[in-house]
Amino acid sequence: MKTAIATVCLSGGLREKLEAIAAAGFRGVEIFENDLLSYHGTPADVAKEVADLGLKVITFQPFRDFEGMPDSQRARTFDRAERKFDVMGELGCDLLLVCSNVSPQAQGGIDHAAADLRELGERAARRGLRIGFEALAWGRHINDYRDAWEVVRRADHPAVGLVLDSFHVYARRTDLNRLSAIPGDRIFLVQLADAPWLDMDVLTWSRHFRCFPGQGDMPLTDFVAAVAATGYRDHLSLEIFNDQFRAGSPRSVAVDGQRSLTFLMDQLHELTGAPPGDFSALPPRSKCLGVEFIEFAVDDRAGDELEDFLGHLGFRNAARHKSKAVTRWVQGAINLVVNREKEGFAHSHYITHGPSVCAIGLKVQSAAATLDRAERLHDIPFRQRVGPGELEIPAVRGVGGSLLYFVDQGSALAKVWDVEFELLRAAGNAASAGLIAIDHISQSMHYEDMLSWLLFYTSLFDVEKTPQLDITDPGGIVRSQVVETADGALRIALNASQSPRTQSSRFLSEYFGSGVQHIAFQTDDILAAARTLRVNRVATLPIPANYYDDLEARVDLPAERVRALRANNILYDRDDCGEYFQLYTTSFKDLFFIEIVQRRGYRGFGAINAPIRLNAQSRLAAERAALDSG
Ligand code: MG
Ligand code: MG
Repeated sequence: MKTAIATVCLSGGLREKLEAIAAAGFRGVEIFENDLLSYHGTPADVAKEVADLGLKVITFQPFRDFEGMPDSQRARTFDRAERKFDVMGELGCDLLLVCSNVSPQAQGGIDHAAADLRELGERAARRGLRIGFEALAWGRHINDYRDAWEVVRRADHPAVGLVLDSFHVYARRTDLNRLSAIPGDRIFLVQLADAPWLDMDVLTWSRHFRCFPGQGDMPLTDFVAAVAATGYRDHLSLEIFNDQFRAGSPRSVAVDGQRSLTFLMDQLHELTGAPPGDFSALPPRSKCLGVEFIEFAVDDRAGDELEDFLGHLGFRNAARHKSKAVTRWVQGAINLVVNREKEGFAHSHYITHGPSVCAIGLKVQSAAATLDRAERLHDIPFRQRVGPGELEIPAVRGVGGSLLYFVDQGSALAKVWDVEFELLRAAGNAASAGLIAIDHISQSMHYEDMLSWLLFYTSLFDVEKTPQLDITDPGGIVRSQVVETADGALRIALNASQSPRTQSSRFLSEYFGSGVQHIAFQTDDILAAARTLRVNRVATLPIPANYYDDLEARVDLPAERVRALRANNILYDRDDCGEYFQLYTTSFKDLFFIEIVQRRGYRGFGAINAPIRLNAQSRLAAERAALDSG
């Protein structure tokens, strides 16, 4: 099947949209009438631009309120259609998309509708054009693809075919059984859109919340499998109305669209074993075995402060890079890298963001296959000059221009620490705090970018996404969603907010963009970790007494345990699988902070405690601001 996208998906003027669509590798485009109306030039000019970009206009749309009109309106309705045919002739497009009538004047009756479609087909055929009929989920009489198919079947005209749209099918929870029985050559176009399951009127849901396949909750793979079973081999066209996309860059949204289709075809291939058609088969989704390292970009001053902070958190300066101003800090299975280089990637990241996480190294089964899959998914590979005695670690661009490195055990990369670093004798470091592993990494991003990074992670790695959560920050709502491997080896929390006053948004403005806002380390003994932090004078986030009063009333913990939690600013939660303990440091230079967690079987992330934490952080930030200004 071939890829296409509707101009309505993207922001910008028509020319900008077409350029973005061509640059993202699409060959087909649906022209939305509004984009044409606001274009300075004739339809023939558009046709030329489209051809120059190597694109093809596959559909002109939408043609509304056509079928079943009363006799008094009928002639005018057909006149309207003839004028669209004129435009299509100039555009060089042969398919008009007719969506089912929503007008209160429309009369029901399958035969009435079929007769109208048949006559329209006859008129279109005289000009070498075709008609595709689509059931809108809110159509007055026709709102189900099965009825639309019955209309097309009875119209019985070679120039009249069916248009299927995954959103309209799933929005009405229609089953797919009948779909695979429709002859593939009577389907003229298949449109794809995903969406989160929302309880709202279908029109609003469709106009604002559609998203690319894989970004929502609808089982698009099943839909495409049913379509493939009909024998349909023509365009799969993205038709997404989404507020975030219309606020985003057309170039990157178009690339996301292409990525979503590549991933969808890959899943179809996995599900049915069917050849991926125009798509080449990808290496399987990369299995992430854990986080190998987190790298910080700093200058000398921030480097001293950060290393001091890490020392107090119980990290040991275990090694130093053989040729660069880079150190390795270790505790349990956690590796942190502090990079003070004055050139190269980390330095430019530091210039943009200040002291920050510039890279995350992931342990994968095969680094080469992961990079290969990433490139085929249109992710952006990263390469920089490799010095003598250094390994080239495969990497792609991640959130906020940071890097995701891939290391594995099966290649020379397994020895990266030995090859590039020399061991230091541990001296003068504080005692370990019993931190054993990285539990999760939390990234804050712009609201419009969240769906994009969600697709990035879920298409590249063998991870699942948790349902979206809306968390109350004193400054507004923060949307949060986690991508994680089934075994928890990788857990990344994505956070975004539309309000400029939330912690998440303040992070974006202070940090100059998206990035890692906090890192959670795991321990087997949170009380011991708290004790070490206290001895090492690491400030923890103060939690109000009210929280513990409520906790005591809410859960049946022994009073003594609640007292211990209270004394150490430890938050508590439990689910069906077990218990969770959380402790936060205050922020490092107002940029990021550390969380320490203990999991006893618990699967979540303490969402119930998030508003408590956010309130405590914003109170501290306000106090600090008052001190600064006073
Ligand atoms: Mg549609
Ligand atoms: Mg957390």
